[in-house]
Amino acid sequence: MPIYEYHCDKCDKNFEYLVFGKDQPACPVCNTKEVSRLMSACGFVSKGGSGQTTKRTAADSSCSGCSSHSCASCH
Ligand SMILES: [Zn+2]
Repeated sequence: MPIYEYHCDKCDKNFEYLVFGKDQPACPVCNTKEVSRLMSACGFVSKGGSGQTTKRTAADSSCSGCSSHSCASCH
């Protein structure tokens, strides 16, 4: 079951959502469905071609594309 990361357009919060089929995620804070899906930090950053533009810190949310929390091992 994929966990995707979403960004709420209304309250500017990032959250993770476990997607079942065509389930539409809603923001846990303000409950809006005006959210945009973020790609997994790993695949998005490492396949950009222009190198690392974004450094995710360990305090950030965990990566859904690998077992690491820091994303340092998935390049
Ligand atoms: Zn929100």
